[in-house]
This record gives sequence, C-alpha cells and structure tokens, in this order.
Amino acid sequence: MGFSTDAIHAGQIPDPTTGAVITPIYQTSTYAQYELGRSTGFEYGRAHNFTRQALEKNIATLEKGKYGIAFSSGVAAINSIMSLLKIGDHVIISENVYGGTYRLFEMIVKNYGIEFSWIDTNSQTEIENNIRQNTKIIYVETPTNPMLVLTDLRMISSVAKKYNLISVCDNTFMSPYFQNPLDFGIDIVIHSTTKYLNGHSDVIGGVIVTNDEEIQNKIKYFQRASGSIPSPFDCWLVLRSTKTLAVRMKQHEQNALQFAKFLEQSGIAKKVIYPGLQSHPQYYLAKQQMRGFGGIVSADFGDAQLARKILNGVKVFTLAESLGGVESLVCQPFSMTHGSVPKDKKEKLGITESLIRFSVGLEDIEDLIEDIQNLI
Ligand SMILES: *Cc1c(COP(=O)(O)O)cnc(C)c1O
Repeated sequence: MGFSTDAIHAGQIPDPTTGAVITPIYQTSTYAQYELGRSTGFEYGRAHNFTRQALEKNIATLEKGKYGIAFSSGVAAINSIMSLLKIGDHVIISENVYGGTYRLFEMIVKNYGIEFSWIDTNSQTEIENNIRQNTKIIYVETPTNPMLVLTDLRMISSVAKKYNLISVCDNTFMSPYFQNPLDFGIDIVIHSTTKYLNGHSDVIGGVIVTNDEEIQNKIKYFQRASGSIPSPFDCWLVLRSTKTLAVRMKQHEQNALQFAKFLEQSGIAKKVIYPGLQSHPQYYLAKQQMRGFGGIVSADFGDAQLARKILNGVKVFTLAESLGGVESLVCQPFSMTHGSVPKDKKEKLGITESLIRFSVGLEDIEDLIEDIQNLI
C-alpha cells in the first residue's frame, strides 16, 4: 500500500460492536473477564488499550516496522531505550541532540551507572575510536535539532552491525513521511508524536518502532512496568492526525523551502540552514536518505539584537517551544529548547543567542515571509 493509504487505514478496522469507522476512544481502566483465567485478552488499561494498539500499529506501518510501542511523551519513549541497558553499559550518542534527551541522559540516567560519550556521530573514525568493551547502543538524531546536521544512517547501521551494537535513531524531525531509518538497517526508531505525527499542537506523546522481537519484548515490558503510557484520548488524537500526515508534510516542506530561500536571498541572516538548500553542506546526503527536507529552518542572524527583534516582533509566527504543528513557531534554542545544555557546548555546536529556529507551518507562505519582512 502507498503511504497515504496506510496512514488512513493501517491498524484500524471498523469497530466490532457498532461498525464505527473511526476507532473509538476506549476510555476504560479495566475489562470484564469471562470467568476466572479467561479474558478477552484485554485485562487492565495500563497493559491493554484498543485505541493505543490501533495507534501503535498505524505508526509502525508508516515506519516500515513490525512493532510500535506508544508512550506518554517523546522523552518517555527515549527513556524506555534505557531498559535495554544495565549498570556499567556505555552509549555512544550524537553531541547535538534534542535538549531534553541531553538532560535525561546526563542529569538522570548517568547517575544509574550508564556511561555516555557525546561525540560527532558523523565521523565513523570518531565512533570507532569511542567504542569500548561495554558499548551497547549508538544513538543518533538526524537531522539534528536545531543545527540540522545529518548523520549517514547507512554508516551508523553498518558500524552497529560490525560491533554488535543496537542502533537508535530519533526520527522526529523528518517524520516517517520523509525518512524511514529501519530501511537502512537501524534497529529502533523514536518519535516525539507531539511534533509532526500529531501536528496540531494539542498532544504530548512518543513512540518506539522496531522490527526486532527481542527489543520489542523488552520495551513493551518496560511500557507496562513503568506505566508511561499515553491516554486513550491522546492516542485517538494522534491517530486522527496521521491520516493527514502526507498532505501536511508536503505543504510544510514547500513552505519551508520557500521561506529558507527568502531568508537566503534577503541577505538578512548570516547563515541559513535547511537541508533542502544547495548551500547545506550535506545536501547530497539529504537527497540520498530522505525523501524530502522537512519543515524546520534555522538561521543565525549574527546579531543578538536583531534576533531578539524578530523573536519579539513576529505576528503570524508565534514565539513558543515545540515544532511540527500546523501553526508556525519561532524559538531561540539557546535559551529555550537547549537551555539545559552547558554554554560552552552550545558554542561549540553553533547554538548562539542570534540563532533562530523556525518551525514553518501551513499558513500562506506570503504571510509568513511578510511577517519577517516587516521586521527587517
Ligand atoms: C520534542 C522532541 C523530543 C521530546 O519529545 P516530547 O514529546 O516533548 O517529550 C525528542 N526528540 C526530538 C527531536 C524532539 O523534537
């Protein structure tokens, strides 16, 4: 089936009781059992929920995976990966990842005796130099937030296979519409469904997708044991949203490309970063492993005052954290999404006070461009 057909139908059958075409919100904490030891297979809401199952099947299909496991947030999904590790294990991870991923691993998980090496995962040499006896996972995000640096997924999966590591890719920025890491041999895909998958800025959620049965068993067990599950209503909202993922992503991309070209041509920014611009240093890698370039544009205005003027002055864009919704947002990663990353690390990555991240939404592009033109 094609992507849109799967998006609209996968995981969903007309409701067996009424024929409802849309999977209902099974808002129940428990299920009646036929007799002692014989149930419908649904026993308790933390372990089983039909709306959640439908969502898990739906997203797994879109990611070309066998198993989907939904969580109450993107970071809850990321945290579930740690259930594959034990004390003394080591993780290799991209130095530029979502700020909340950095916070979770560095401030909390590290205290449980898991070791992390934050490195440039673009360099196979640097990865191999950092692999140790106890290395278990290699974790990447591509393109990264907010610098939009790509990692070659084929290279990551081949290194992971060579050294018997589990490879993990946070695919939130591209969504399954533009990139399917499992196709390159990556073992686990993570999404914050809060972003493009839900796309309407009204849900916090996350999901894991894998083809590996052993990994699915462990993460599913963790989902049930830790209880970090999404509510039936939130699952229903995301399931409603994936139906339009293809049309939304196409329009996000079209708007983002025009917006990036406008910024580049206006000469107002010192540097415009968008994987769909030929000026992006990894434009060719982007074309190889992605089917599109997404909806996020970052730009360094080289002047904190000017950046502040834009952040405070926009009227169509909204100054807010998050991304991937129908409405356009701006943020200053330096103080907002990446506030918990140490200053010297931010400097090294290029996350300056004059860097703005634009989540280009689905408004008319003329209005988005005019919004910035009015300020410069
Ligand atoms: C937002 C985000 C997360 C965290 O997801 P939440 O749903 O906010 O917990 C993880 N990774 C990336 C790339 C994100 O953008």
